[in-house]
Amino acid sequence: MIKIVFLGTSSQIPTKSRNHTSILVETNQDSFLVDCGEGTQRQLKKINFNVNRISKILITHWHGDHTLGLVGLLETLNFNERKKDLTIYGPKGIKNFIFSFLKTFYFKSEFNLKIEEIGGKFFENEEYFLSAKAMIHSAPCNSYFIQEKDKFKIDKTKIKNLPFKEELLKNFKEGKNIKFKNKTYSYKDYTSLEKGKKISFVLDTSFNKKIISFVKNSDILICESTFDNSLKEKAKEYLHLTIDDALNIAKKSNSKRLYLTHISQRYEKDFDILEDYAKKNFKETFLAKDFDEILLK
Ligand SMILES: [Zn+2]
Ligand SMILES: [Zn+2]
Repeated sequence: MIKIVFLGTSSQIPTKSRNHTSILVETNQDSFLVDCGEGTQRQLKKINFNVNRISKILITHWHGDHTLGLVGLLETLNFNERKKDLTIYGPKGIKNFIFSFLKTFYFKSEFNLKIEEIGGKFFENEEYFLSAKAMIHSAPCNSYFIQEKDKFKIDKTKIKNLPFKEELLKNFKEGKNIKFKNKTYSYKDYTSLEKGKKISFVLDTSFNKKIISFVKNSDILICESTFDNSLKEKAKEYLHLTIDDALNIAKKSNSKRLYLTHISQRYEKDFDILEDYAKKNFKETFLAKDFDEILLK
C-alpha cells in the first residue's frame, strides 16, 4: 500500500488555497516527506497526521519554497521528545546547507539526525526502494522515485487443503517452494504475481532527457508544471518545466497517471483551464490541489 497526500502544490509564492511544496508518502512500514516547504507541519496537523511517524525527509533542492518548513518541523519533533532516528536525504551540498541553517536557529536535535547526500538507489527495505537522480536547476536538485517490490499474493481458494501449518505459507509470499513430507509444493501453483507500483517525483528542473529514462513506466508521475506554454522562454530562463514539458515527459516515459504540481500563483483563477488543456493531451492528467490523496493498494 502506498498513500500520497499533497500538502502543498504552489510554486515560489503560496496562495489562499495552495501551500508551499511538500508531499507525504505513507507505506505499510513508514512515512516520509518529499520536500518540506514553509507551513508543512501545519498542513500535517490539518490532516491529523502525527509527525513522529515520519522516518525520513527527501529534499529535492535547497530553495526556500521546498525547505523553509524544515526547522519548525524538527523543533516540533524535539518538543515531542522524539527518540527515533530521522534521516534527511538530498542532493550534493545539502549537508552544509542544513548544518548552517540549524546553527542559525540554535537548533540542537535531541534525536539522532542523519543527513545524506545521495544519487542512485539510496534506501531499501522489504517493501520498497528509493532512487535519486540529479536534475538541472539553479541549485543542485534531485528527482526521486519510490519503487514497491513485486509481491506473490496467495490465492486463498487454492491453499484450503494443504497439509502443512499456516506459518510455512510465508515461503510462498517470498516466491519460495515448500517441501513437506517428501513432496514439493511450488509457489507458482498457489500464488499470483502482483507488480509493485512506481511513483516518481519531479520537482524543480529544466527539461532534460534524464527525466524520461528516470521516471520510465511510472504508475504515478508527480511533476512540476510551473508555467503554461505561453511562458516557455521564462521556463527556460528559470530552469523550470512548462505544462507541455510535463505532458511530454508523461507520454514519452510511458507513465500511467500524471499529477501536475508546483503551480504558479498567476493561475489561481485558471486551474480548470489548465487541467482541461492537459487532459486533452494526456487523458490521465490531474492538477493536484492541497490535500488531494492518491491511494495505491
Ligand atoms: Zn520551487
Ligand atoms: Zn527551485
